[in-house]
Amino acid sequence: MKKQRSRIWRRLFICVCIIAAVCLCESGELSSQSQSFGSQHGLYELNDVHFHLTNYIQEGTDIHDFLKIMGTKVGRVALFGIPLQQEWSYQNSGDFAPTYYLQTDAPLYYYSFTDAYIAMAYLSLSKDEQARFDPMITGFNPADMYAADHIRRVLQTFPGVFTGIGEFSIHKEFVSAKVAGEVASLQNPALDRILDFAQTVGLVVLLHSDMDVPFAKEGSEPVYLNQMKALFKRHPNTTIIWAHTGMGRVVRPIKNHAAQLAEILADPQFSHVYFDISWDEVAKYVVASPEATRVTADLLNRHPDRFLFGTDEVAPSTQEGYLKVYYQYEPLWKLLDAKTREKVVKGNYERLFNEARQKVRAWEKAQGFGAVRSF
Ligand SMILES: [Zn+2]
Repeated sequence: MKKQRSRIWRRLFICVCIIAAVCLCESGELSSQSQSFGSQHGLYELNDVHFHLTNYIQEGTDIHDFLKIMGTKVGRVALFGIPLQQEWSYQNSGDFAPTYYLQTDAPLYYYSFTDAYIAMAYLSLSKDEQARFDPMITGFNPADMYAADHIRRVLQTFPGVFTGIGEFSIHKEFVSAKVAGEVASLQNPALDRILDFAQTVGLVVLLHSDMDVPFAKEGSEPVYLNQMKALFKRHPNTTIIWAHTGMGRVVRPIKNHAAQLAEILADPQFSHVYFDISWDEVAKYVVASPEATRVTADLLNRHPDRFLFGTDEVAPSTQEGYLKVYYQYEPLWKLLDAKTREKVVKGNYERLFNEARQKVRAWEKAQGFGAVRSF
């Protein structure tokens, strides 16, 4: 009896040892992962939540050159192309080949191949280099009920690559009206399908939608604000980053823009909503006067977890050009307390995207989509 008991104890002891060894191994793996994030965290100055590798005619910077541009300054980048292609219509501009949407009256159309292009660029990198990017799916038409199926297909074709969707646009001055086919809307069930699917997978959503129409009447209620709020409320479990805080180039920062953001930030119904402060047009407004900078800094200091820095640069060729917006924000950085600044330029990115990476990889695994494919 005694002998039997001691045998049971011995077995139990061996079992515990095995479990402990497995746990140690796994935590070692995890800690080496978090160590690599951790060391990145210390080494680099900022992360970029909003970056276009290619332009409106799907041309851009070679990703290996872009790594050199990031240098030791930028740790991680949310990487995407542009979902819209500017058509070169010979009827319209003849031999003049437009490279930007304002250079011709010809329409823009959704160019789904951008996702494959971005995935292949990412897959051409080494594992360590890949760790610095979070590729995003953009090549879908948000007015199409099949858009969510496109996103699923991209994840299936390129497992282990994507972390989010966007930047895609619903209301964007001068662009929305030029897109061929049905115009996108915040009230379209196709968009609900997209956001539902993003939540199921754990994809971060980077959404551009102007809060107001261009040249709105001073003091008038922003035209799309209520629709946007309703959309957020319909998707309380989707992580949504509202690009440019809803500002546009000539969607003037309505006097009470900061107050409107403050209202959203204070409402627990919108705790899944974040804002990126990317784009030189946004920075321009923020640093336009000491008063504007102070109002913005107050908002960020009060809600340090909800804002992310991004450049919104398109296919840059130098680090100076790439980080122009970052330097433009210098007056703002000076007014942020140290903890807030660290979160806005780095920490919030890492928190949101690390979580999304884990969720998306787990979802892909559960679908049987397999490991990262190397080509
Ligand atoms: Zn952008």
